[in-house]
Amino acid sequence: MNILVLNCGSSSIKYQLFDMRDKSVLAKGLVHRVGMAGSKIDHKKGDKGDKVTVSSEILDHKDGIKKVLDLLVSKENGVIKSLNEIKAVGHRVVHGGEKFAGSVLIDQEVLDAVKECVNFAPLHNPPNLKGIEAVLELMPNVKQAGVFDTAFHQTMPSKAFLYALPYMFYEKEKIRRYGFHGTSHRFVSKRASEMLKIPYERSKIITCHLGNGCSIAAVQGGVSVDTSMGHTPLEGLVMGTRCGDIDPAIILHIMKKHELTPQELDNLLNKHSGVQGISGESNDLRDLEEGWPNRSERANLALDVYAYRIRKYIGAYIAVMNGCDALAFTAGVGENSPIIRELACKNLDFLGIKIDMDLNNKTWRGVEGDISTPDAKVRTLVVGTNEELVIAEDTFDLIEGRLDPKTGKPKRK
Ligand code: AMP
Repeated sequence: MNILVLNCGSSSIKYQLFDMRDKSVLAKGLVHRVGMAGSKIDHKKGDKGDKVTVSSEILDHKDGIKKVLDLLVSKENGVIKSLNEIKAVGHRVVHGGEKFAGSVLIDQEVLDAVKECVNFAPLHNPPNLKGIEAVLELMPNVKQAGVFDTAFHQTMPSKAFLYALPYMFYEKEKIRRYGFHGTSHRFVSKRASEMLKIPYERSKIITCHLGNGCSIAAVQGGVSVDTSMGHTPLEGLVMGTRCGDIDPAIILHIMKKHELTPQELDNLLNKHSGVQGISGESNDLRDLEEGWPNRSERANLALDVYAYRIRKYIGAYIAVMNGCDALAFTAGVGENSPIIRELACKNLDFLGIKIDMDLNNKTWRGVEGDISTPDAKVRTLVVGTNEELVIAEDTFDLIEGRLDPKTGKPKRK
């Protein structure tokens, strides 16, 4: 039983084909520059196979997905004989609003609801929708599932998700905190409880997803009780180019003083802020860490602000859950940057977080592990995230009837 996972961005399509018998990856790849000059597909057979690059004009998402399907069955680079071997397609969908607290099988009602959420995620939901609609046309008989970035955080209580604005904005316009990276926080918190051999239903875990976007979540008893991203993925931690938490009055001030349009301000906060904005050098932590701490004052400052914000949230989430069993670092930076883990965990020994510098420095590049000192009350873990696998598993469970197709809740036996 093979499941294709698609993650359609505005100009890219990430894909992975899973064999659900053993959850192995048959093929994976990335379509670059959809609808632009210089488009190409990087394709790999298996998880670790050699990369082949196919240059080809890719007009739009439908064309990109068609070319991926052609590659999957091609003589030279294919891994299946016919498209009939793909039983279902699982899509990453960024925003599900309050409508989706779990993964669902896609029908017209779901499509309409995802369209309603375009307002909340104008950059992300439209390409997700294009991917679903393309598969509907290219493989009309194949079932499709939507797995939402926001769904895992729908368990947040109102005291965590409400902004202190006039209540009308929540009631009528659904302006509230939603949280993102839910698929990753769900996978990583579960994995952390397995690594520590503690029951997920009774665990208190803080997950730090530090990648291109960054968010942190408090996961208590297997459900998200708070997370740092809000109405959009701009709130919370400092990111590569996004500012995270700032005083909202600054926005009005800058807008007025520099006569910026809403679009220009959006660009400033999302694309020119974060560690890029502070350092003036790069949005990539690998660059800023090169030569650390002797690179430059501004690079050090960027790393300090980035790590300090993480530390503040860790303290806050320990208070939210009245304790913590494990702190789990994941994604590009979380899995690969001993420097950020060291800075973020500094001065937290009072709360029981102590990391072993030797273990910390050894744990990266796909290595998973516990990097705490033996006496640390809270275990600090490095966990590899795997959002694509979660999407494949949910899709599989939906089509096999283990999850309710409308709510994604496990069906009672
Ligand atoms: P992701 O969104 O999870 O793919 O993470 C991508 C980000 O991870 C990149 O922007 C890099 O800044 C960061 N990253 C990857 N490898 C390293 C590393 N060895 N050290 C620090 N940051 C890294």
